[in-house]
Amino acid sequence: MRKEELQRLSAAIRDVPDFPKPGILFKDITPVLGDGELFEAAVRGLAETAQGTSIDKVVGIDARGFIFGAAVSMILGAGFVPIRKKGKLPWATEIESYSLEYGEAEIEIHKDAIMKDEKVLVIDDLLATGGTAQAALKLIKSIGGQVVAVSFFIELTSLGGRERLTGSRVEAILTY
Ligand code: AMP
Repeated sequence: MRKEELQRLSAAIRDVPDFPKPGILFKDITPVLGDGELFEAAVRGLAETAQGTSIDKVVGIDARGFIFGAAVSMILGAGFVPIRKKGKLPWATEIESYSLEYGEAEIEIHKDAIMKDEKVLVIDDLLATGGTAQAALKLIKSIGGQVVAVSFFIELTSLGGRERLTGSRVEAILTY
């Protein structure tokens, strides 16, 4: 992605202090989503992280990963699979507990969402501690998916999330 495009994307992200808890500097991506050119640039950048590989399924993580992931799956001609917070998926699921920057959570995937050895690109808006993505990778591997890359719009490098994802290719469009 061009440097000028990266600068425009970065300038559009709104830092909101103390949301949703004191001490958290929340990266609000809604100004990026609300600008057609910027949203397109972000989605294109994420799709390019899978260049050279044929992707069968794009997995988006609840909830902002759905926004980027669904758009990326259209570009790649791949199916879209949601990993959801507990209790939202209606069919048989695999479940994984994890801790995140501000709390504890459980996520689920439909057991039949990915076939054995299908190539998967995982998408989320932001990498913080890496707990969410680590749990997502466990779920995908538990049902037989092969993770090609885990790609984030934003990476907060100081939280060391990348180290929790060793063994997988980790990509980020913007790093702070
Ligand atoms: P983690 O599991 O710590 O990597 O947290 C990642 C998830 O929490 C992502 O799905 C983000 O949407 C959300 N998140 C964590 N920290 C922030 C932050 N500072 N700003 C915005 N979203 C965040």
